[in-house]
Amino acid sequence: MNKVILIRYSEIHLKGNNRHYFLKLLRDNIKNALKKYNLSIEEIPSRYVIRNFDEKDVENVISDLKKVFGIFSISVADEVDSNVDTIIDFVKGISLEGSFKVHCKRADKKFPIKSLDFEAQLGAIILDNNKKAFVDVKNPDTLVNVDIRENGKSFIFYKFIYLAGGMPLGENRDGLLLLSGGIDSPVAGYMMAKRGLRQDILHFNSYPYTSPMAKDKVVELAKIIKPYIGCRYMYIVSMTQIQEQFHINCKEEYAITLLRRSMIKIAEILAEKYRYKTIITGESLGQVASQTIEGLTLTDNARKTTPILRPLIAFNKDEIISLAKQINTFETSILPYEDCCTVFLPKQPVIKPKLDIAINEEAKIDLPSFLQNAIQNMEIIQI
Ligand code: ATP
Ligand code: MG
Repeated sequence: MNKVILIRYSEIHLKGNNRHYFLKLLRDNIKNALKKYNLSIEEIPSRYVIRNFDEKDVENVISDLKKVFGIFSISVADEVDSNVDTIIDFVKGISLEGSFKVHCKRADKKFPIKSLDFEAQLGAIILDNNKKAFVDVKNPDTLVNVDIRENGKSFIFYKFIYLAGGMPLGENRDGLLLLSGGIDSPVAGYMMAKRGLRQDILHFNSYPYTSPMAKDKVVELAKIIKPYIGCRYMYIVSMTQIQEQFHINCKEEYAITLLRRSMIKIAEILAEKYRYKTIITGESLGQVASQTIEGLTLTDNARKTTPILRPLIAFNKDEIISLAKQINTFETSILPYEDCCTVFLPKQPVIKPKLDIAINEEAKIDLPSFLQNAIQNMEIIQI
């Protein structure tokens, strides 16, 4: 008898011809997430089986698996040969109290006893051996699962641990996540990673108006989300000169609109240079003045072709906070350092900005060369 971890995957079975590609991705991602443990991973039909781990590592292995997208659920199980007597012997050793039910799944149609009959037989054995146990098929305290697989092995377990599901993270870093130090953008990266989008990170600061500690905070956030989003590089671009130029030359109420448009313009230049296919932001409709439909439209209009994904667009703040807590970014996000969006903050930012006015304001300075200059001086760090 062996303790194993059974892994069931989520949407991959829908993938038809591409199934093998996604299964390989998932297996590679699982291997990568668990590389620090000395264990083995076997692929069997519809499952992965993790074996040969140290039992004291189980909780850590589970928590690392929670960061791998594409997994529907996992169970810690006992593995036995799919032989009637062997399974019966194992079930004789089960000790439990209270209500229970046996659930058999016979993926191996060559197994000689039908699921319902085997459930009754195993249930009777458990009743015989446990004087304080009784059967409740509707709402049992303990569900004894017997999963008889096609590979000649059966798995006996009591719990399903449900994970985030989604699609396995792709091989290429196709997304560029605009990561501020706030609560929303790390969650936005997580949400897109859940759909298989691997991302690198772009962060803007306004040093010396923003403190060097603000940068440390964002690096820390990047490290926390790395296991989810699979990032490798973080680009840090200074907005100081651009913001000063807007401040000196342009309408004060357009400061945030212009800043946000410049962020997107820089993101698109980097996307073209380093072959990112999409830009991700943590914007949410109506959350702040720059995130009205009109504000978002102007931000959208700042780019040429690169799509902007806004996975939090319809999320409430409390929903975002609860995800931030779940992925462990919340406590870091609320550390009190300035973001470049809070530098030169207008007293009354425009709520319904107009595109012609924004373009007119941008034309007051030599924006293309300031953008290029900011990119030439950017810092690239490995996460
Ligand atoms: P967050 O909590 O993610 O900071 P927010 O609600 O404070 O978001 P804004 O400050 O308007 O909203 O920013 C909207 C989005 O723009 C952010 O979610 C992020 O994707 C991007 N963004 C804002 N500031 C920065 C920055 N300093 N560096 C990189 N991206 C930024
Ligand atoms: Mg912010």
